[in-house]
Order: sequence, then C-alpha cells, then structure tokens
Amino acid sequence: KLYNEVQDLKGSIRVYCRVRPFFPGQRNQFSAVENIEDETITVSIPSRNGKGQRSFNFNKVFGSSATQAEVFLDMQPLIRSVLDGYNVCIFAYGQTGSGKTYTMTGPKEITEKSQGVNYRALSDLFMIADQRKDTFHYDVYVQMIEIYNEQVRDLLVTDGTNRRYPFIKIRSSSHKGLSVPDASLVSVSSTFDVIDLMNLGHRNRAVGATALNDRSSRSHSCLTVHVQGRDLTSGATTRGCMHLVDLAGSERVDKSEATGDRLKEAQHINKSLSALGDVIASLAHKNSHVPYRNSKLTQLLQDSLGGQAKTLMFVHISPESDAIGETISTLKFAERVA
Ligand code: ADP
Ligand code: MG
Repeated sequence: KLYNEVQDLKGSIRVYCRVRPFFPGQRNQFSAVENIEDETITVSIPSRNGKGQRSFNFNKVFGSSATQAEVFLDMQPLIRSVLDGYNVCIFAYGQTGSGKTYTMTGPKEITEKSQGVNYRALSDLFMIADQRKDTFHYDVYVQMIEIYNEQVRDLLVTDGTNRRYPFIKIRSSSHKGLSVPDASLVSVSSTFDVIDLMNLGHRNRAVGATALNDRSSRSHSCLTVHVQGRDLTSGATTRGCMHLVDLAGSERVDKSEATGDRLKEAQHINKSLSALGDVIASLAHKNSHVPYRNSKLTQLLQDSLGGQAKTLMFVHISPESDAIGETISTLKFAERVA
C-alpha cells in the first residue's frame, strides 16, 4: 500500500522492518523467520518445551528478497514531502550486520541497482525540483555528521589534514534563514555533487578506524539535506529538511567481557538508542513531555521529531536462528515506538 496523500503523513510515525538475506554459503542455517506478510512478521523462539512463535505488526515488512528499488518505492512519498516543506527523519536500526548500511547507502561496491536510500532520495529530490523549475526554485544544502560516545563530529571537513576531525557544538547557527548545527553546510546542485560529498564523509569516517576496530558500527551517522524552496510567482518560501540516520549497532555487549573503551562505547550507544526510543514512543503515544534532552542525537533532531515532522523507524533483522535474541529485542524496540 502506497500512501501518496502527503496529508495522511502529518505528524506520523511509521515503522518498517527488513530482513537481511542469508549470506552465500550459509544456506543450511536455520532461519528464525517463520513467515512474512505485508505488515506482519512471525519469528520462532526456542523455548524449553519445543518452539514458540511470535508475530509483530508494522506498517510494512520487507522479506529478504525485497530489492533496493522496492524498498525505496515505499519511502518515496515521505522523501518527496521534504520539497513541500516537511521535516523528515529516517532511522536505520538493528544489530551490527543486519543490513542498516545496505538499506541507507548500499553494499561495499555500489551499483545503480544496489544504491541505497541516500542516493535514491537525493536523485529524486533533484528530479522533482527540475520538474517544478518553471514555478519553483529550490536550494539544497547537505551536512554529514557522526555521533560517537556522545560527541558530534563534522564529516564534511575538507582541510585534508585528516589528523582529527573537529567536534562540534549542537548550538544552532543561522545560515540563509536555515537553522543548522555548526557543521559544514555544503550547497549541492546535482546527485554527482552529493555522491562526492558522501564519499568524503565516508573517507573522513574511516580515519578513526583501524582494521581491528571498525568504529562505524558503534557510531551514529547522519546525512542531513536542507531544502529551501521559493515560489517564483508569489515569492513565498518553504523549508524542509531530511535526516537520514544510520544508527550504531543495537546489540547488547556482554558486560562481563567488555572493559575500558569498549564498555564506555556500549554504554553510550545503549543510552542514546534508548533515549531515541523514549522520544519516539512519547511522540507515538502523544505524551505531553518528550524527553529530547537525554541524548545528543535527540537534541540534534529535536526540530525534526514531532510536530508536523514525519518519522520512519526502519528496523533491520538478521535471519539466522542464533541471532534470535537480538532479533526479538529489535522487534520489541520497534513495537514500542509503533
Ligand atoms: P549493518 O550496517 O547493519 O552492520 P550491513 O549493511 O553492513 O549491516 O550488512 C551486512 C552485510 O550484509 C553486508 O555485506 C551487506 O552488503 C549485506 N547485506 C545486508 N542487507 C542486504 C540485502 N538486503 N541484500 C543483500 N545483501 C545485504
Ligand atoms: Mg553499518
């Protein structure tokens, strides 16, 4: 079901779920996923007396054969509403290896077919802006940041030093009428510009990582697109922005094993993911108090969560039966914010 009426989406929170396929050569593994229907996923849960089952309902469930194009089709109306002045947040949630980066960016070697949401969203925006060019003028700006251990870094620095990329304050500054965090704000006018920037962001993000220590799964990364539109006849302006967030892995770290830096990271991730869950759950249940201040991520996105903004929580699960513990906790997280 496509929801093409923008009005339907006002203030809405939607929850999607996607199951990663098995890796090649993994065919003999048991699957934890029993059944998938349009909006329901059923998983099997090992228990003392045999096998139990549990079903979860979401706005949409994508099985392991869903293509990038199919997944994008269901997100497209949301993304298009940015051009009409709405704020949109899309979160990819799930344990490390469940397919978050695949959905948002793509696989390691990206082809046109395997491009993720980030690329498709931007080409869509530019395509629609072009279709409307006789009546509207759009300016598009991009920011890319990373949050690691509750510190925010600018991923679009170009000074080439690569020694360390700067921490930024969340304080908003004003730029051409846009309220933005203090990170580099780059004007873009084509999908090519954006691809270059994303590559820069990915390179900068890799700087802190070593072969043994891929930090990307333990930090949140956020690509923000600001769109400013001007009606060429009336001069009226619209402002919309879209945050595409690839969250840190949600897996629980064994407290008895993790020490030092690893433990600290795990605690920060736990804290910020539960703060995000709390904010979205309060919005979904229309609570009067929304606890934005409990994490950097929710502070940063405060203006784009709630009110007229549209939120999509896109949870990812691994199919293997031995991942069932993490799968259940991911599905419960999703159920809570739905
Ligand atoms: P995460 O970002 O959640 O840690 P990744 O996106 O890196 O997980 O996915 C783990 C691996 O599985 C990668 O090699 C990725 O290319 C592959 N993968 C994930 N989802 C899919 C999918 N839907 N189809 C094909 N390969 C996938
Ligand atoms: Mg990833």
